[in-house]
Amino acid sequence: MRKKIVAGNWKMNTTVPEGVELAKAVLAKSAEVPAGVGLIVATPFTHLTEVAKVVKGSRVELSAQNCADKVSGAYTGEVSAAMLESVGCKWTILGHSERRQYYGETDAKLVEKTRLALEQGLGVILCVGENLDQREAGKHLEVCTEQIKNVLYNFSAEDMKRIVVAYEPVWAIGTGKTATADQAEEIHACIRKVLADKFGAKVADDTTILYGGSCKPSNAKELFSRKDIDGGLIGGAALKADDFIAIAQSF
Ligand code: PEP
Repeated sequence: MRKKIVAGNWKMNTTVPEGVELAKAVLAKSAEVPAGVGLIVATPFTHLTEVAKVVKGSRVELSAQNCADKVSGAYTGEVSAAMLESVGCKWTILGHSERRQYYGETDAKLVEKTRLALEQGLGVILCVGENLDQREAGKHLEVCTEQIKNVLYNFSAEDMKRIVVAYEPVWAIGTGKTATADQAEEIHACIRKVLADKFGAKVADDTTILYGGSCKPSNAKELFSRKDIDGGLIGGAALKADDFIAIAQSF
C-alpha cells in the first residue's frame, strides 16, 4: 500500500525563529492527523538545523527544497546532499517549477541531483507539471510524461521506493487557481501508467503521487478522495500550522 503524505514547502519564507515556531506549531497538532499520514516540512536551508531539533524523534520529517548536482568542491552557494543528510534531513524536493523557471533547472540536472540525493539515503519529492500555455494547447499529459521519463527512467525499481512524485500544474501554484479533482486525477493516473510502463504495475501502484497547486483545507478533501491522488505538496497553506494540519486531516 502506498503511503499518504502531506508535505509543506515553505519556499523562501520565515526567518529562522519564525520557522522554529511554525515547526513547533505543526508538531503540537500532529497528533490530530491520522497515524498513516506522513508529514513533511521542507524548510529553507538556513532553518534545517534548528527545525531538525524541533522535529527530532517525531512523526514530522524534515526536507530541503533543493540540493546540488555535484558531490562537493568549488561550487559557491550550493548545498550538497551529504550536507543535508548530516543535519537530519530525510527528504529533498527536486525540480520544483520555480527552480525550473527561475534557476534553469533542467531534467538532465535533476537526474544528477536525484542520483546524489538517493546515494545519501535521502528521499526525493520530484515535481513535474505543465504551464498554462501547455495546458491550453492540450499538451499537459505529454509534458508531464516527458518530465517523468527524462528523470525517473534513469533509475531502478529499487530507487523508486524512495521517490515521491508531485504533480504541480504551474498555472495553479500560488495563483489561487486549483486544478479540479478531475484534471488532477487525469494526470496522476497518466503518471502512474508511465511509471508502470517502465517499472511494472506493482512499483507504480506503490508510488506516492502528490498534488500541488493552491491546495487548501477547503479543496483538499475532494482532491484526496481521488484514486491516484495520495496527498499534497502544499505551499502557501503550509505557512499556517492550522491550515497545514487541516489539509492533512482531509483523507
Ligand atoms: C508549491 O509551491 O509547491 C505549491 C503547491 O504552492 P501553493 O500551494 O502556494 O500553490
